[in-house]
Amino acid sequence: MSQIEFVDKHMNGLISDLQTLIRQPSVSAKNEGLEECARLVTKIMRSSGIKSEILRLAKGVPPAVYGEVISKQNPSKTLLFYNHYDVQPAEPYDLWNEDPFSGKVKGKKIYGRGSADDKGELITRIKAVESYLKTEGDVPCNVKFLVEGEEEIGSMHIEAYLKKYKKKLASDAVIWEFGYVDAKNRPIISLGMKGLLYVELSAEESIRDAHSSLAVIIENPAWRLLEAIKTLRDSKGRILIKDWYKEVDRFTKKELEIINSEPFDENEFKKEYGIKRFLANKRGNELKKALVGEPTCNIAGFISGYTGLGAKTVLPSRATVKIDFRLVPRMVPIKQLARLRRHLQKNGFDDITITMIHGEAASRTKTTDPFVSVVKEAADESFGSSVISISSAGTGPMHSFVKVLHSPCISIGSTYIFSRIHSPNEFARIDLLNKTTKCMCKIMDKFSKH
Ligand SMILES: [Zn+2]
Repeated sequence: MSQIEFVDKHMNGLISDLQTLIRQPSVSAKNEGLEECARLVTKIMRSSGIKSEILRLAKGVPPAVYGEVISKQNPSKTLLFYNHYDVQPAEPYDLWNEDPFSGKVKGKKIYGRGSADDKGELITRIKAVESYLKTEGDVPCNVKFLVEGEEEIGSMHIEAYLKKYKKKLASDAVIWEFGYVDAKNRPIISLGMKGLLYVELSAEESIRDAHSSLAVIIENPAWRLLEAIKTLRDSKGRILIKDWYKEVDRFTKKELEIINSEPFDENEFKKEYGIKRFLANKRGNELKKALVGEPTCNIAGFISGYTGLGAKTVLPSRATVKIDFRLVPRMVPIKQLARLRRHLQKNGFDDITITMIHGEAASRTKTTDPFVSVVKEAADESFGSSVISISSAGTGPMHSFVKVLHSPCISIGSTYIFSRIHSPNEFARIDLLNKTTKCMCKIMDKFSKH
């Protein structure tokens, strides 16, 4: 039996293992069920024929799961699958049609928190390896797994794990934890991830909230903070902080070619989000360039005063804003933080306090790397066609992998682009789980021959 036939024949096993994983809540934000889920992953790996163990860093840090199969026919090349077993909180529960941890199959979809992000992705990789082991008793190249438990809260220990287990995790290429499939069923092969600088800015005026009649004589810190953040960005989204774009490289010719050829359905996108226009009336290639390569300054939350029902006339003592800046390759988070600090000082806002919550550098695999064509060929064969994107618009710890393992990282997977990850009614499409599992088989095969 071929691996492809094996995958088709054993889809029920894939689905039931995915349900088992979904039914074990593993919410890193609440430190809920992480040990249990890590053990469950090792169990599923072992029953698929993959050698597996729990890796530990320090007390209080969620465990990571390691998996390994050494190839008898080709032990000189190693492919690493990076995934995570933790999930986002399921709240708000009342917006779910089913229990978020039920793993219920309805029609051609599996519902539940983690069904797509990232338990669905993980299961396709485990099953691809299993299909080789149970048909040929061997894999075409060495295969390793690193499955962490803190991805949804910022992967703050992944670099320490990579450093501690550097030898064990040594590999020649990395398949990233997720990959989107677009509305036309084409997988998006993403070669990079943006970085992130997440900060909190606070203004404080008085030691306690006051009656709002005093707004004639006491400054409102929310106004103060608004004035400060108004200076960060213009209405077109351009960041006004000095030298913010200093390290941003122009796209290469090849990158521009890829961006031009990338499909982007503007109307479909507008419909999905219920928006009438894009920021700064961007269209066509401008949208695509922005998504893969433009830094952002986004207000993620603004906290001040009374936000409950009805009216309360209050003058708050304090205002805080949470801002995330997406970064692109060569931008260094702490350097950007220093530039932000200087900007506020220079504009007379040195009373605003800045707290850095998270910093992560961006990463991008070169378009000319041979691993790109390995993945592209496998994807085209499995899905009919595929799309290369030079970078995801999102952030992940790819830079740490490149820094420690020196391996190219490419993201490809089974997540339907509108599968509501991080939201109520998250689902995975069974047809995409099937195709992605086959695609992973082909990646192993082509990679071993390259
Ligand atoms: Zn996620």
